[in-house]
Amino acid sequence: MMTKLILATNNQNKLREIREMLKGLPFEVVSQSEAGFDLDVEETGKTFLANAAIKAEALRDAAGQRGISCYTLADDSGLCVEALGGAPGVYSHRYAGENATDAKRNTKLLAEMEGKENRRASFICAMVLMTPEHHSVSFEGEVCGEIGDAPRGENGFGYDPIFYIDGRSFAEFSAEEKNAVSHRKRALEQVVAELKKRMEERKKNENADE
Ligand code: IMP
Repeated sequence: MMTKLILATNNQNKLREIREMLKGLPFEVVSQSEAGFDLDVEETGKTFLANAAIKAEALRDAAGQRGISCYTLADDSGLCVEALGGAPGVYSHRYAGENATDAKRNTKLLAEMEGKENRRASFICAMVLMTPEHHSVSFEGEVCGEIGDAPRGENGFGYDPIFYIDGRSFAEFSAEEKNAVSHRKRALEQVVAELKKRMEERKKNENADE
């Protein structure tokens, strides 16, 4: 029987990416809304991992209350700029106010970076996987680059137009190029390896029981 893996997101891009990577594994991957949950959890953590854990736990508890045995997976991500002491970090989404646009956030960050020589920055993605036995496993993926002088490119989202690797902004990367190196992909690869390991162990135990 397929094990349910509920994602603590309704973001279609993330959902597609995760489904693609879990292809061939015995999981039914569903978003929280597809699973019938309408959770809006406050991200009060000081780190990406803390926020991912808050979301994964809330979903696990909600599923548990309905007697659903499943894995849950949550992520939290953002941009950390060395010269700004790691800002915007966990505040990446709220950096220019709750309802600001991506363009506003980028303009604000470029203004903060004016005259700064150290332009090093990285995108970080934390993921927390909760098992049906209530174990929690944490993962982190990172991609390093630098903050450019001006936005460039039309692809991607968020801070992509001002995050540069080797002279090209992430918004100038194709989706495939970005996905090959992204922080999310790097975290997700570790999640996939963990799930594969767990499935193999389960198979071994089932064979030993026969
Ligand atoms: P969340 O983890 O999806 O909530 O992302 C938090 C915020 O970090 C987003 O609103 C973006 O501003 C930023 N962010 C996270 N990942 C990326 C990315 O791959 N490109 C650009 N911005 C990102």
